[in-house]
Amino acid sequence: MKRRKCIVFLCHCILNCNSKVEGLSNYKGAQETFVNYLVANGYGLIQLPCPEITMYGIKRWGHVKEQFDSPYFRKHCQTIFLPIMEQIIDYVNSGYTCKALIGIDGSPSCGVNHIPSSALWGGEVASKYGLESKIKDLKTINAQGVFIEEIAKLLKKNQIWMDFIAIDEGNPEASIDKIIKILEGRE
Ligand code: SF4
Repeated sequence: MKRRKCIVFLCHCILNCNSKVEGLSNYKGAQETFVNYLVANGYGLIQLPCPEITMYGIKRWGHVKEQFDSPYFRKHCQTIFLPIMEQIIDYVNSGYTCKALIGIDGSPSCGVNHIPSSALWGGEVASKYGLESKIKDLKTINAQGVFIEEIAKLLKKNQIWMDFIAIDEGNPEASIDKIIKILEGRE
């Protein structure tokens, strides 16, 4: 039996950058370096649904966490993750290792360590509506994205634990090296 019985859960855009807000992405399709590593090392890969494209489509603007921090978006995150949650329960109960969830730092939905934040971001995009103040108010803060928070709650509710790690959109190569070290137990 060749199967390694070890699975990682990938935020959607690691395998399909086309789901990202247009203009973002430092690779053409899938994150080749990281995906090649996972395939070569026998990990099963499960692609999570993208919570943003499934609610706002490909023409959405870049958001901050505060805009997604609503009961509606949280409910959407729970709903799309539920089928994955059921698979995780089944795998764990059957002796498989659900090793890690790989998020995207810098995303208001899928950030694990840091996310974009602003109390002012939103509304009309024009100087007369205070666009400059909105841009000035944009910052990065240490927190999880909304989708990651909802996933963490559902895993905890089901008493299932796995590492949460992230590719940093601003520094993908360094973060991928770090993720590989964590997966290999070297960090
Ligand atoms: S970071 Fe999350 S929300 Fe953003 S494109 Fe990737 S999967 Fe979708």
